[in-house]
Amino acid sequence: MKTENIRTRFAPSPTGFMHIGNLRTALYTYIIAKKYGGKFILRIEDTDQGRFVEGATDVIYNTLRACGLNWDEGPDIGGPVGPYIQSERMGIFKEYAEKLVEMGHAYYCFCTKERMEQLHAEQQAQGMTPAYDRHCRDLPKEETEKLLAAGTPYVIRQKIPLDGTTTFHDELYGDITVPNADLDDQILLKADGMPTYNFANVVDDHLMGITHVIRGNEYLSSTPKYNLLYEAFGWEVPTYIHVERIMRDANHKLSKRDGDAYFGDFVEKGYYIPAILNYIALLGWAPKGENEIFTLDELIKEFDISGLSKSPAIFDPVKMKAINGEWLRKISHEEFKAAALPYIRQTCKREDINMDVLVNALQPRTELLTEIPEKTDFIDELPEYDTELFFNKKMKTTPETALSALNAVLPVLEDIPESDWTEEKLHEAVFAEIERLGVKNGWVLLPMRAALSGKALTPGGGIELAAILGKSDSISRIKKAVEKLS
Ligand code: GLU
Repeated sequence: MKTENIRTRFAPSPTGFMHIGNLRTALYTYIIAKKYGGKFILRIEDTDQGRFVEGATDVIYNTLRACGLNWDEGPDIGGPVGPYIQSERMGIFKEYAEKLVEMGHAYYCFCTKERMEQLHAEQQAQGMTPAYDRHCRDLPKEETEKLLAAGTPYVIRQKIPLDGTTTFHDELYGDITVPNADLDDQILLKADGMPTYNFANVVDDHLMGITHVIRGNEYLSSTPKYNLLYEAFGWEVPTYIHVERIMRDANHKLSKRDGDAYFGDFVEKGYYIPAILNYIALLGWAPKGENEIFTLDELIKEFDISGLSKSPAIFDPVKMKAINGEWLRKISHEEFKAAALPYIRQTCKREDINMDVLVNALQPRTELLTEIPEKTDFIDELPEYDTELFFNKKMKTTPETALSALNAVLPVLEDIPESDWTEEKLHEAVFAEIERLGVKNGWVLLPMRAALSGKALTPGGGIELAAILGKSDSISRIKKAVEKLS
């Protein structure tokens, strides 16, 4: 594969959503450009006006930016071969389509919608795949001119050679040859003057100097037609890399009905963005070594197209969650804090707590960020709880032992000056008391934890909770428990 002066492009249609399959294409496209010191270009393919969705371009920008997939040229930042929005390039496509007609590789087609519907219905009734019957392919020139002059609506179709074969090369699949007889005279320019994707992608990839086209393999079957277009224009064919689909299981594509096909779904579910990117990189690509945890920079280093798979990737939600957990554990305290804070703040508004201890307690115990609000909901207000909470089989604690433990630890805590109320100092003091009592740690720590949180599941144990809540709140919660238990 040629690796010099690479220019790749991500060419999404603004649908309002970013399917993770598309994001994965963007990721591979970005990686291949960056790996070889090339340029990554963003082009918005919005020629299908029927599918226009308000704000959809922002979804694309925001997603790519959030993922760190920054483009070198694109609609918002410009570049030498703009505009980068297809709907702003209309004149170009008409011009090239007409050029192709002149060169004999395309033709005007005046077939009405009604005729086409009838044709397709007949073909389907005969068990054939609907295709154009080339009715207008050999219209005499004068006839075409007359119809055009009369303002008859038309489309421009590609004139596919009737015999012979077309071969193209894909970096992954090798050489692929198809009989031209299997290719239809596809529409290049629609009746509304808009180009089809099939035409616009070729013209724009050429005019934008794209050297490597990375896209989903649903385009593999159309690629011979694109090759014929490149040949007709005498343009250099780009390097193709078609990547496999992402499947829910052996028989189903990962679709929006599954509720987790879009990037936004995962963010909403509490996934950490670099972890999402890491996981989707692995869908259809296998690193050489054992390690599967990669930052974007590491992916750029590690990525090799020989690791791309030629069979569909199966989306594995369990693995994705595990990778997210690994990511949340491995990032720095500050990074985790930044990611966790909005979630903490959903249930905990208090400013006077020891946030760093809370963050440290949460970090090793969080797989999804959305688990956090429930874990911090006891901080602002002690929930109502039952003395049952003080039973623990393993530690042999009961409400009675809890009362003794809390009565023992209360004066110890009261003796710690406010300014010394740190995790370390608390640890020192409480463990000294545990030793003095000659009991198991949990005999004291479990009742502490229950008294401080009113919950069975907490981020951190009794000492961490005390450090988080601060002296006066901790003492008052323990006194409350003593009262309850007395
Ligand atoms: N606009 C096309 C899509 O969103 C782009 C396909 C391509 O990368 O060429 O599927």
